[in-house]
Amino acid sequence: MEVTRKKKIVKTIRIDVDKCNGCRACEVICSSFHAIPKYSSNNPERSRIRVIHYPLRDLYVPVYAGEYVAAECAGRGMYTIDGKEYDECAFCRASCPSRDLFKEPDSGLPLKCDMCESDPSLTEPMCVQWCLADALIYEEREEEVEEGETLEEIEIGLEAMAHKFGWQKLLDTAARMSKKD
Ligand code: SF4
Ligand code: SF4
Repeated sequence: MEVTRKKKIVKTIRIDVDKCNGCRACEVICSSFHAIPKYSSNNPERSRIRVIHYPLRDLYVPVYAGEYVAAECAGRGMYTIDGKEYDECAFCRASCPSRDLFKEPDSGLPLKCDMCESDPSLTEPMCVQWCLADALIYEEREEEVEEGETLEEIEIGLEAMAHKFGWQKLLDTAARMSKKD
């Protein structure tokens, strides 16, 4: 794979965990923004940000959906921060086989945060706009980054399906379904 270096605007959302109150408005607006048609429904299971809840310990951790991984980690770690103990996987962004997070509930396809880039008129991602507690802070910076080929969303979805069912079954099914059109 050819890798080149070029300047790029890197978009990030900084999370201030201490300010999150667990209201889950971010989950509602993200799933609604990505509904087809847009805003036609909302279902937090389709959200690309999920808030890990531990109300009895007064812990709420917003986590953004990151990359799809085909295999779960062999080892996991616990975190203790300021005397509060967070479960293993609490800060992990991966869509992985060990949990139901970041999977489209009907198809099982992986979900990934796309920074709401489908609407270029937005000055800030929707979840940031809807977080009234200011727990999500949008930032942009210019950085020199390595740029290689990146997988498109459809390729990531196909890879996940192939891992689950095998390429042959996927190809046979696609061939059978295309004959119906
Ligand atoms: S909208 Fe903000 S305060 Fe509410 S759950 Fe999401 S990150 Fe936390
Ligand atoms: S930035 Fe957009 S896509 Fe990402 S979690 Fe927030 S609302 Fe969802």
